[in-house]
Amino acid sequence: MILAIASGKGGTGKTTLAVNLARVFGSSVQLLDCDVEEPNAHLFLKGTPAGTETVSIPVPLVDEALCDGCGECGRFCEYHAIVSFGATALVFPEMCHGCGGCAKVCPKKAIREVDNRIGVIQTVRAENITLIQGRLDVGVAMSPPLIRAVKDRLQKGAAAILDAPPGTSCPVIATLRGADFVVLVTEPTPFGLHDLKLAVDMVRELRIPFGVVVNREGIGDDRVRVYCGTEGIPILLELPDDRRIAEAYSRGDLIVEALPEYAALFERLREAVLERAGGAIP
Ligand code: SF4
Ligand code: SF4
Repeated sequence: MILAIASGKGGTGKTTLAVNLARVFGSSVQLLDCDVEEPNAHLFLKGTPAGTETVSIPVPLVDEALCDGCGECGRFCEYHAIVSFGATALVFPEMCHGCGGCAKVCPKKAIREVDNRIGVIQTVRAENITLIQGRLDVGVAMSPPLIRAVKDRLQKGAAAILDAPPGTSCPVIATLRGADFVVLVTEPTPFGLHDLKLAVDMVRELRIPFGVVVNREGIGDDRVRVYCGTEGIPILLELPDDRRIAEAYSRGDLIVEALPEYAALFERLREAVLERAGGAIP
């Protein structure tokens, strides 16, 4: 079962939810931190490092002696990562997705591929949780290839929780693809509702069953609840705006350990998710 935690905007408590749900999830679970530009799940897990791997993608290298500047590669590349310039072709590695297409279409066989490092994947073992987190190198603009590399480490058949990047753009889509269920985290505010609607459109487009968790219940109004009711979207959990949760967060503590009375709420969330995974799309 692959469960993804996402939100239409940052700062809604997505990672808090992911790490606490992982702790109560069962005997063992993989937690994949796909927020590779700013991974922070590790801050809440006091575990043991179990390895670091470098991740690279193949980018084109043009042999100027063979290239005649025909421009076939540039016409093929939808990311504008290679363009013909005079009698040769120029590569912009930071925009390259490593698809290999330009090398295939080059009629002069002037392109070979070389590895370009984009980041690392770190593994940490923390009791029942195996955390696998991607960390994009500084200056690297494209996170989807690293997110896919993180997801390649998913153990087939094992339970997994994916902590998605915030928003609704390509990195989020790369994270959510293949998930059995998505939990959308939001706050009961007008901004929260606005971004929740965008996130709902996204998961409906992806055709993945989903539900909503409202964090910091009590800070705003009931428009999120009304919207979910109208749209037939299940609210799986409402976490109150409890100052002690914020304090636990700022210390890097898990809520279910610092405030054990909340463990039952997260266990109920786990049951609600397991019941709905693979079911109807609201
Ligand atoms: S397709 Fe090949 S020959 Fe044509 S511009 Fe690109 S690298 Fe040069
Ligand atoms: S490998 Fe793909 S993304 Fe990169 S330059 Fe070639 S066609 Fe563009």
